Amino acid sequence: MRIGMIGLGNMGGPMAANLAKAGHSVVGFDVAGAALDSFAARGGERAASASAAVAGAELILTMLPAGPQVRAVYDGAGGILAAAPAGALLVDSSTIDVATAREVAALAAGRGFDMLDAPVSGGVAGAAAASLTFMVGGSEAGFARALPVLQAMGKTIVHAGPAGSGQAAKICNNMILGVSMIVVSEAFALADRLGLDRQRLYDISSKSSGQCWSMTSYCPVPGLVPAAPSNRDYQAGFTADMMLKDLKLAQAAAQAAGAATPLGAEAAALYQMVTNAGLGARDFSVVFPFLAGRADAVK
Ligand code: NAD
Repeated sequence: MRIGMIGLGNMGGPMAANLAKAGHSVVGFDVAGAALDSFAARGGERAASASAAVAGAELILTMLPAGPQVRAVYDGAGGILAAAPAGALLVDSSTIDVATAREVAALAAGRGFDMLDAPVSGGVAGAAAASLTFMVGGSEAGFARALPVLQAMGKTIVHAGPAGSGQAAKICNNMILGVSMIVVSEAFALADRLGLDRQRLYDISSKSSGQCWSMTSYCPVPGLVPAAPSNRDYQAGFTADMMLKDLKLAQAAAQAAGAATPLGAEAAALYQMVTNAGLGARDFSVVFPFLAGRADAVK
């Protein structure tokens, strides 16, 4: 398939490379020259602008930082909605607010385009390994058309519902993740203070009702789960800055929808403190040394 791709950064770069590897013809654009260079080195065809990248495309994929960039790239001067060929399927995989996702999808529909929001989880490693999870919002027909393309970049691809549902699933999931990472960190910090051996608590809780992904797959305490970033001085992984972004999106959505999310609000406040302490570029599991009063040891 002829694919136009805009946003070739940490996630978009390896995703585009996997599309090219799967035999698609990928024409890409990014405002950062270095991102374009590395895209071209991995089998992509570089374009001089967003409108040049989407000319002749059957599917257009965007992987941009946040809502304002998505709005600009789709609806700004020389944007996708003005330049895309009739019948092209539009897919935005950026993590953005639900309201913007729905607005841009409605603008696209007004111009006759089918548009999906398809944010991902799995991080840079999942993007490189083509093992991302895609959470997709939009029409059934659009989902069916996009599926073979998404399968070249991901393993688990779920249709979550109409426009905006992919973003809704993403922020709900990451709110669970943010809160669970904090409480696992609190429990181990408390255990330290009580003189309870970390390994003993792990052996008990990993097999008890406290078990969760934040403990057994990504433990914030060094020495318990070998693959976890806590064993690599909290090198990301998924940064605390990104977790804060997603928690803020969840709070904005909760306020707009009238949902009570008090632990989500506390988690956003705590991750704000983590990033204000200069730890935003570290993995989000750095909340453990932060809570334990040992943030200086990882700076
Ligand atoms: P990134 O900053 O590495 O990449 C974004 C790219 O978009 C950059 O190369 C930037 O130059 C480009 N860009 C910005 N404005 C542009 C414009 N107007 N036109 C063309 N290009 C433009 O970010 P990333 O880590 O690749 O993340 C992308 C999205 O994926 C974000 O929404 C993020 O929240 C989400 N996400 C990231 C991860 C992760 O672990 N990195 C995991 C899941 C989801």
